[in-house]
Amino acid sequence: MTKQYDYLVVGGGPGGTPTAMALAAAGRRVLLVEKGPGLGGTCLFEGCIPSKIFRESARRFAELKESARFGLCLPTQDVAINWSAILERKRSILKRRSDAALNNTEHFKTLETLTGQCSLVDAHTARITFDDSSSDEVKFDKAILSTGSTPFIPPIRGADQHRVYDSESILNIDHIPSRLVIIGGGPIGVELGQIFKTFGSDIHILEAAPRILMPVDEELALHLQQRMINEGINITARCQVTAINHSGQSVFVEYTAENGEKQRVNTDAVLMVTGRRPNVNGLGLENTRVKHTPHGIEVNDNLQTAEDNIYAVGDVIGQPMFAHWATAQGLALARSLLGQKHMFPRRESNTAVIFSQPEIGIAGLTEQQARDAGMDVSVARYDYSQDARAQINARDEGLLKIIYDSHTHHVVGVHAMVDGAESIMGEAALLVQTQIPVEAIAGSIHPHPTLTESFVFAIRNAMMQAAQKNKQET
Ligand SMILES: Cc1cc2nc3c(=O)[nH]c(=O)nc-3n(C[C@H](O)[C@H](O)[C@H](O)COP(=O)(O)OP(=O)(O)OC[C@H]3O[C@@H](n4cnc5c(N)ncnc54)[C@H](O)[C@@H]3O)c2cc1C
Repeated sequence: MTKQYDYLVVGGGPGGTPTAMALAAAGRRVLLVEKGPGLGGTCLFEGCIPSKIFRESARRFAELKESARFGLCLPTQDVAINWSAILERKRSILKRRSDAALNNTEHFKTLETLTGQCSLVDAHTARITFDDSSSDEVKFDKAILSTGSTPFIPPIRGADQHRVYDSESILNIDHIPSRLVIIGGGPIGVELGQIFKTFGSDIHILEAAPRILMPVDEELALHLQQRMINEGINITARCQVTAINHSGQSVFVEYTAENGEKQRVNTDAVLMVTGRRPNVNGLGLENTRVKHTPHGIEVNDNLQTAEDNIYAVGDVIGQPMFAHWATAQGLALARSLLGQKHMFPRRESNTAVIFSQPEIGIAGLTEQQARDAGMDVSVARYDYSQDARAQINARDEGLLKIIYDSHTHHVVGVHAMVDGAESIMGEAALLVQTQIPVEAIAGSIHPHPTLTESFVFAIRNAMMQAAQKNKQET
């Protein structure tokens, strides 16, 4: 007999898994279908976690080499990289986390998980095809599609050849390439570029846009770009890659430079990080009224597709593509479906960290985005070169910008570039999401010496400057 569920959740990543658990926690009969090796999605197996495991090794490697600066005498010439040990550490953390995810789902009596490829047969029926090619049909009342995204590789000649990696395969590379050309200067290209540079690779980033990290605050992105160039990373902006040619052990990446000249760069490996495309193929959307474009499944403000009983969350509905964003959407959707108080996440209060060196933290609107939206905004700035914690850490390069409405004084954006930004962006997110007035920040007590004090210092600076300006004008 065909099994019937209240909810079918397709995809066990950061979007699908917490959503399925939230619905099951409320007693709903839920089927969670995941085709991959375990629960965790791109984030766990090919994204956030493995890339940050590599980054942690790179950071520690770099820090060990500067021990003398901290008064520590270490034979730094003996510090070496054991790549297979790094890969083994990654494997073990991934296993630990995917086992834990599976264990967590087992606590819910009304949640069933299946490993297989799920495809919709109609708006209330799905077929699950298992590894042994057998299949099963299930019926559901409502479905939540959270099938994520996969790397988008533009049609460049030679891009499908050996030694050309994407953001997923590079995380399983069995050696550190001596030379690596990275096509794409977005967050993943920048993060992996700095990681492999620290591990000793020669890095050349080719970017079509005028600079790296286009959606990021221009001042911060340009500062990071210059820092990367100073570190010895080659960055060519405003260029178009035309072909990747293989010749013996060498790979040649051909591109057209800004001035129209044809150039080529010789490398050992190529990393293509040219965006991601939502996973809609093989999902059987053509058997339903669900609509999609190359940017993802179309949903309304309630994350509902054109088929009333089918919803979608996470990367599969397009930008912004972040793990915490997928989870926030999924949990808000679950609450709304359960008739509970909920608030769907607003794009303008999204937060993210680019794990560059130093990190760039983003919460809410940039100054430019706020002005483009017609807002009259003021900017409170703070230079981390004067910050106690940043100096103690010997990481005093960086800048904080707090964007606030000039009339209401509510914070609409926080943008920080500093080593340790990852640890302050949770607070930054709250400042934006609660639209706190800057006077409340100025009057708050933050522990010393910590990077979070910078929020208070930035606002106090801005308030003092405004007071002085007022005095001069009167
Ligand atoms: C290198 C890299 C680094 C990243 N770093 C960060 C970071 O630091 N922070 C951050 O927030 N985000 C990061 N991301 C992005 C993050 O990984 C994604 O935004 C997040 O995983 C999206 O979650 P999701 O649930 O929407 O999709 P996914 O995590 O992609 O999960 C979708 C799941 O659906 C399954 N699936 C697909 N189709 C079917 C089907 N037909 N049937 C059954 N199962 C199916 C897939 O196997 C997959 O497990 C990174 C991404 C990459 C590539």
